[in-house]
Amino acid sequence: MFESLSDRLGGVFDRLRGRGALTEADVRTAMREVRVALLEADVALPVARQFVDRATEQAIGQNVLRSVTPGQQVIKIVNDALVEMLGADESTLLLDVTPPAVVMMVGLQGSGKTTTTAKIAKRLSQGTLANRDRKKVLMASLDVARPAAQEQLATLGTQVEVATLPIIAGQQPVEIARRAMQAAKLQGFDVLMLDTAGRLHVDQALMDEMKAVADIAKPQEILLVVDSLTGQDAVNVATSFSEQVPLTGVVLTRMDGDARGGAALSMRAVTGKPIKFAGTGEKMDALEAFHPERVAGRILGMGDVVSLVERAAESIQQEDAERMAMKMAKGQFDMNDLRGQLAQMRRMGGLGALAGMMPGMKKAQGALQQAGGDKILIHMDAMIGSMTPKERSKPELINAKRKIRIAKGSGTTVQDVNKLLKMHQEMSTAMKKLKKMGGIKGMMAMLG
Ligand code: GDP
Repeated sequence: MFESLSDRLGGVFDRLRGRGALTEADVRTAMREVRVALLEADVALPVARQFVDRATEQAIGQNVLRSVTPGQQVIKIVNDALVEMLGADESTLLLDVTPPAVVMMVGLQGSGKTTTTAKIAKRLSQGTLANRDRKKVLMASLDVARPAAQEQLATLGTQVEVATLPIIAGQQPVEIARRAMQAAKLQGFDVLMLDTAGRLHVDQALMDEMKAVADIAKPQEILLVVDSLTGQDAVNVATSFSEQVPLTGVVLTRMDGDARGGAALSMRAVTGKPIKFAGTGEKMDALEAFHPERVAGRILGMGDVVSLVERAAESIQQEDAERMAMKMAKGQFDMNDLRGQLAQMRRMGGLGALAGMMPGMKKAQGALQQAGGDKILIHMDAMIGSMTPKERSKPELINAKRKIRIAKGSGTTVQDVNKLLKMHQEMSTAMKKLKKMGGIKGMMAMLG
């Protein structure tokens, strides 16, 4: 996600960084380019305009231009403006009430509502959502409009091991909501998730139904699910919904396929509602908490180490994650670490799943995809396996002769070995840079 914007901004900033002194005209030119980049990413026009005006004013107004590192300062200003545009960090669910807390999911048909309901329920029941305590969750589908929608939720429920309300044919949404509330109370559920009916378009009957259900269920959270691929339409849908139902947040789905990111970028500014989660795939684990600071970091090419470590922590041992975080913090990252990373990447769903999360990985990723995609991960593992322990911890020791041996030993070519070494080099440089900018504070605190 955000690849094209990230590339464009990367170009603008590379030009800024490359110069010792900046004039006001330089900043204005750069900001004009930022504006074009935002519009190309499909950010709503007024939002892009306001963003650039504010950032320009700050960059010119303060002592930025006279500072020692004007380029870096301008990037920081853009970073902060991005965080502000994306809104404060609100990626938690407020569920601290006398049980059951009710989470109501709303949205158009096909937006990914049912899938997202099950994804969130899974996290809540496993205790891997922000609050971190396991919840006893009941899901109920109120979707009587789409054939087999209720069965779909029941199937997902079995898959993620979350209870679903038994289906009674012919019952209407409000009745189902009432029955679900009763069942949740009587059977001691902590959280009730209501998956409501969708429509193809926003219409009044749908809104009335949402309101009637909300009246009965009194939800703590009303989350609107929208498809990020629909760009500005997603923002329009969110605006219509937020005018009629008291939304507490937005979930953007299909962020995995959205290279532009315009919906994500303008959602908060246009609707006033925070994006709480991002759907990043069809699998039940493909859901991420939406943290504006991390997303801004990802857009500006800093990589999103915190999400990466969190994601890794879910699939590997905690000690491993801590060890990796420590290494990154120190800016040390040798072949053993890279090997561990490659193995995790395979476990976490291959290259695609990690796009842009790892500092320096984004550049490497394109090359990797070209070089044969996920298969290359296995080759790289073999190459690292053919190195001596000393070479693994100090790859700079590897000379031309050793490269030939390593290639032979792993059934690859010297070019492959060179590519691997270059990728390692890029990643460790990116991590050192990250360390310098202090971008890992949150990560360390999280693991503390
Ligand atoms: P609903 O009609 O809103 O309940 O939509 P569904 O939950 O049935 O989702 C429609 C389709 O979108 C399904 O095939 C899902 O697997 C898919 N889907 C949902 N969320 C995501 C996502 O974040 N990424 C991708 N790639 N597909 C998704």
